[in-house]
Amino acid sequence: MFTAPYPENIFLSAGTMLFNEGDEGNAAFLIKSRSIEVFRFRDDCEQVVANLGPGDLLGEMSALDRRPRTAGARATADSELVPITAEQIDRRIAGADPVLRLCLKLATERFREAVAEADTPRVATKARGGELGAAFDLIEFERDLDRGLKAGEFELFYQPIVRLADGGLAGCEGLARWRHPTRGLVPPCDFIPTAEASGLIERLTDWCVAEAIGRRDALAGGAGGAPDGFFVTVNVSGRDLARPQFAAGVGAAVSEAGISPASVKLEITESMLMANPDGAAKILSELRVRGLGVAIDDFGTGYSSLSYLATLPITTLKIDRSFVQALAGSTVNARIVQTILRLADELGIAAVAEGIEDAAAAATLRQMGCTYGQGYHFARPLPFPEFVAWAQTRAPAPRA
Ligand code: C2E
Ligand code: CA
Ligand code: CA
Repeated sequence: MFTAPYPENIFLSAGTMLFNEGDEGNAAFLIKSRSIEVFRFRDDCEQVVANLGPGDLLGEMSALDRRPRTAGARATADSELVPITAEQIDRRIAGADPVLRLCLKLATERFREAVAEADTPRVATKARGGELGAAFDLIEFERDLDRGLKAGEFELFYQPIVRLADGGLAGCEGLARWRHPTRGLVPPCDFIPTAEASGLIERLTDWCVAEAIGRRDALAGGAGGAPDGFFVTVNVSGRDLARPQFAAGVGAAVSEAGISPASVKLEITESMLMANPDGAAKILSELRVRGLGVAIDDFGTGYSSLSYLATLPITTLKIDRSFVQALAGSTVNARIVQTILRLADELGIAAVAEGIEDAAAAATLRQMGCTYGQGYHFARPLPFPEFVAWAQTRAPAPRA
């Protein structure tokens, strides 16, 4: 019989038990090949209640509510299964909408009541067609992500943030990349959604924070010897805003490294902020109390109200690149950028224009009074050694 921790794929020879009635429900199983029989004993008689094959999912109810298995399962032919552990399911549920969580909880309870009344358990669910393929892919990708994190395959690239007035280097943004052994360099849009859905994002954020803090002095050293004002930014996920110890953890990492907390900024997108305004406001205050910088990312896309924004202890607004890129051809976008700059000015905080791709946009933004700029016009996100080399070619940034 198989027990946790489960291997990635379970191979059961014909006649082998997968689990017994009454066992702890710590995983669900997707059947990849051949057949599994589900059975239970009533009055000392074994009753087969289901014969399952490829595409069937079994054991999910106990994995959801952690109650004992209501039936046993064994292979009737040499079979292959993919386990989905209760922890993997829990992490997904924790990130789900509260209404969805409530519905799931009620549905699970009602299922249990129905089973108790009818005394005929329905222990299997067919995950058909596309759903099955998608579930296999997701679980496999999540495992690969977990493995990659443990194997140290992640890397931070650094994109310069320059002072628009004189082109001097002011800081940089750390952007995660995955150097995958077979897929090559994987961009964040391919792994951040799975990292968020699975909860692995918390480990990724912690790694990015530690990496950026550890490299901050070396990155600043490359910036023409102006380490005092130089800052490095790290992207934070919505999940991190719900972590009670998050701000304390970043604060401790900064003081351990002996660097100024103001030289580390956490970037939080405006839409994340709006998804959890109370949690976000709390974490933001905790970060600011520790002297860390807080930047609102992709600003202009998240529909936050200005009165709400004014209540938040933020230090930087990052103007979303969609406004910056259409600046030349659109007076509406120019007005939006102007309004955001005025807002930043009134709040007494810095503004960074993202996605500057040409000299004309850089010049327009400079004339509009935007302090900082970031984009391919200056440099793409660069691996650490290339960033240091790039920074050394720049004139020393004047002290703030
Ligand atoms: P973001 O935080 O808005 O990061 C800026 C993205 O814009 C980066 O893409 C950067 O390469 C790209 N970019 C910079 N300048 C230009 C430009 O001039 N033109 C254009 N078209 N694009 C430009 P990247 O590195 O692919 O990252 C994409 C997104 O993935 C990031 O958007 C961020 O939301 C997320 N991300 C990246 N690293 C992390 C991470 O460590 N943690 C979390 N939670 N999210 C991350
Ligand atoms: Ca960002
Ligand atoms: Ca952004």
